[in-house]
Amino acid sequence: MEQNRTISADVCAAERDGAAEYEAVIGLEVHVELKTGRKIFCSCRPKFGDEPNTAVCPVCLGMPGALPVLSDEAVSLAVRAGLALGCTINRVSWFDRKNYYYPDLPKGYQITQLERPVCVGGAVPIETRAGKREIPLLRIHMEEDAGKLIHRGDETLIDYNRAGVPLIEIVSEPELRTPEEAKAYLNSLRRILSYAGVSDCRMNEGSLRCDVNVSVRPRGSSEYGIKCEIKNVNSVNYVGRALEEEIARQTALLRAGEEVEAQTRRFNEDTGKTEKMRVKEAFIDYRYFTEPNLPAVELTDEWMRDVKDAMPPLPDEAARTLTERFGVKGENAALLTSSVFVTEYFTACAEACGSDAERAAMENLFVGELLEGIDPDAVGAVVPVSPSALAGAAGLFAEGKIVSGNAKKLVRLLAEAEDGTLTREDAVLFAERENLLKLADPDALMPFVRDAVAASPRAVADYGRGKTAALKQILGQVMRATGGRADPILAEKMILGTVEDLNEK
Ligand code: ADP
Ligand code: MG
Ligand code: ZN
Repeated sequence: MEQNRTISADVCAAERDGAAEYEAVIGLEVHVELKTGRKIFCSCRPKFGDEPNTAVCPVCLGMPGALPVLSDEAVSLAVRAGLALGCTINRVSWFDRKNYYYPDLPKGYQITQLERPVCVGGAVPIETRAGKREIPLLRIHMEEDAGKLIHRGDETLIDYNRAGVPLIEIVSEPELRTPEEAKAYLNSLRRILSYAGVSDCRMNEGSLRCDVNVSVRPRGSSEYGIKCEIKNVNSVNYVGRALEEEIARQTALLRAGEEVEAQTRRFNEDTGKTEKMRVKEAFIDYRYFTEPNLPAVELTDEWMRDVKDAMPPLPDEAARTLTERFGVKGENAALLTSSVFVTEYFTACAEACGSDAERAAMENLFVGELLEGIDPDAVGAVVPVSPSALAGAAGLFAEGKIVSGNAKKLVRLLAEAEDGTLTREDAVLFAERENLLKLADPDALMPFVRDAVAASPRAVADYGRGKTAALKQILGQVMRATGGRADPILAEKMILGTVEDLNEK
């Protein structure tokens, strides 16, 4: 009896803490578009949103006899990615043909790197509630993108503008364990690569795409379970949700004593569920062979030096700069270096500030009121509030002319009205017009004080009998009547004066 109770208590505990029995193993394959502006083997220059099939030529359309010429810039950016992630760079690498037929692949093969990729090893640093970790990488290889199929009713159209766009594929070891870690990995990767100038990393425009591999195993097991691959998930949040779903599905199967089938799945954004696309065949023969139309990629010492010299400051260095120049510390320094755009915007705001106190107030307003609404990858976007207007709002707070809640409200109003040209003076005008400034002028305050005193005969009498605390009640009324804007010290002094006058009469 006693025995039974113990066991069922354990089972209940395990049920409550679903993570206890099983753990997930996750590996991500991330495709990143290199920011070269042109295709990898021809000089077509596609832009997002172009008319279909306008950025194409005989090479990227796979016309017989057209020969590929490798873009130097694509190689430089791939090497740059490798250096930024601490990879070993293969000084000699080469391209292979992956042969398969699909209508988005005009040549009937994809040029990629299998046997000798440009980079191996390296790691992506992540930070979660559990602390800091390094997620090791298997490899980074260069390849060309395929075209895009557009399904419309029961017909399918093809746009070859993306065919031949330069990509790197970054493959992690299966070392991620939770959806939270997978999301942190993607954000960290995005941050580093956008800083390094390797890619815009805009998931909504397809310049960063992610295949999610996941299996589940009994916790403590050293073997991997059978994995499923969720193809082409296109936002960090979707990666998190797809993983939650898929881990729950696989865990339920294992609990029920069933096996997980190796599948290729997709995430349905409308239902939030993952769906089976096909069973993963044990082995697909792509008939790989070395691409005969391209020489091996040989990186000279000079080339390596040039790539290193051209490397922009990476996020950790940028965070140190924010600390040194503007006193930004700890978590804020990391938040404010989430992308080059955020860092540049914050830097402009800090430069617009006239004192340390103003800068500190600006930092709080920036992190508290603006940061969440900023798309970190909005390269060249209009800022929500111009640096001088934000500095103006911060200045009002630093000088004690506005209470914190109203300073935030002012920033929100400026953000709504922003046309990119508002000045420091405009911020003050806005605050005046919207009645957000502290009432620190005796003439402006007097009517409120008089009304509150007149409405409180009891408190006035109490004060006359020596109960000084009675004044606080009147002050409370003044604060309420002014929407919290009254300067409390001045108001209290004026109440005292008014009440004493009354009691003397
Ligand atoms: P495949 O040959 O099926 O494409 P790879 O060995 O190329 O598999 O690995 C692809 C990705 O899947 C890598 O990111 C790797 O970390 C991950 N991966 C490999 N095995 C597992 C597993 N059992 N569970 C989860 N992820 C895995
Ligand atoms: Mg693979
Ligand atoms: Zn072309």
